[in-house]
Amino acid sequence: MYFELTKEQKMIRDEVRNFARKEIAPRAEEMERTGEYPYDLMEKMADLGLMGIPFPEAYGGMDGDWVSTHLVIEEISRADITLGAMLDVTTSIAAQELFVFGTEEQKQKWLIPLVEGVKIGAFGLTEPDSGSDAGSLSTTAERIGGNWVLNGTKQFITNIGLDNASLVLVAANTRLDSGKEVIATFIVPKEAPGFKLGERYRKNAWHASATHEVILSNCTIPADNLLGNPERGFSQHLSVLETGRISIAAVAVGLAQACLDESLRHARGRKQFGRPIFDFQSIQFKLADMAVSIELARNQYLKAAWMKDKGIPHAFEATAAKLYATEMLEKVASDAVQIHGGYGYMEEYPVSRYYQGAKLLQIVEGTSEILRMIIGRMLAKGSL
Ligand SMILES: Cc1cc2nc3c(=O)[nH]c(=O)nc-3n(C[C@H](O)[C@H](O)[C@H](O)COP(=O)(O)OP(=O)(O)OC[C@H]3O[C@@H](n4cnc5c(N)ncnc54)[C@H](O)[C@@H]3O)c2cc1C
Repeated sequence: MYFELTKEQKMIRDEVRNFARKEIAPRAEEMERTGEYPYDLMEKMADLGLMGIPFPEAYGGMDGDWVSTHLVIEEISRADITLGAMLDVTTSIAAQELFVFGTEEQKQKWLIPLVEGVKIGAFGLTEPDSGSDAGSLSTTAERIGGNWVLNGTKQFITNIGLDNASLVLVAANTRLDSGKEVIATFIVPKEAPGFKLGERYRKNAWHASATHEVILSNCTIPADNLLGNPERGFSQHLSVLETGRISIAAVAVGLAQACLDESLRHARGRKQFGRPIFDFQSIQFKLADMAVSIELARNQYLKAAWMKDKGIPHAFEATAAKLYATEMLEKVASDAVQIHGGYGYMEEYPVSRYYQGAKLLQIVEGTSEILRMIIGRMLAKGSL
């Protein structure tokens, strides 16, 4: 069993670590304060090929792997979580769904701009009355002549508010010619007639990430925008969330590492009772626990990504990665503030921002409760 990254994986991790330290980290506080998205940084990320790492060169990608993709998501998130989450939604989820289930024409038209980072994708599953119970959605799609006409509201949609977002992949109830009722998935471009962006949500953190409601009111798209097999639209939509969970785990590890970086810096510099607080055992124990839990969470997301690269089923590993990493992060972010004392509660100290941002990761792409239910079902089946 090898635990060593390949030369290429180390190279891309180190390159992105440098880029994120120099270019993203110094702007993270301003992004959070102003809520303004750094389009220039996204362009630089696109120039480095970061949105297309796991996809073939023929589609504008880097022919890389999912381990590298997730190492990159961790490094970007260590500097700023909103950019890490942008990568998760556009690459791991939207681009992957188009790559795996799209026709050649759909890939040429919709996938390549996402892979090249010229455009950004979004994922539309959640609705006002359908969150964890994702199958209870009420958006509808009706085939009328050469078009699909969609009606409904998608809620809390990441990325879609960005100026360069081109599309959202929408799950909707429909009736097939055979009369069968199914949930199918559709490529809905932002400029489609009847597509309306709701107000931007006022979140309590992650301000630079533009999250909006999407209102589909007789939204009309060509028949060709049906994605994949309509009879399996729901399971195909959920299948990419398995990778999304590995990505959220990588975002959580990146943010937890940032908490540790700042806590170490503070503990070494802050003196009380005539010595750096790092010298107090209670502080060192907190730092030691942080370092251990971050490394365990990192190993778990890397294992899940490695299994994905090898084509080994990894539903448990991905679910465990997200559950463990996001719960770990909540504790690490809280301890980071504690190590900073009163300073940790002040906006100018990054850990106060990290603490605010940490909670969201236990909610998106399957709450901790839903992930435990998934693992519980695996245990009930005896498959673990
Ligand atoms: C900032 C942000 C960005 C998001 N981005 C996207 C996006 O891009 N695309 C998208 O489709 N969605 C997105 N979401 C939605 C997110 O995935 C949902 O919020 C999440 O799935 C939970 O759904 P809910 O909010 O409706 O909570 P609910 O489903 O109402 O859950 C409320 C509580 O009840 C618990 N619960 C529910 N059912 C059970 C059960 N059976 N057993 C035990 N506990 C249960 C939940 O775990 C939770 O604690 C985003 C959300 C946020 C906040």
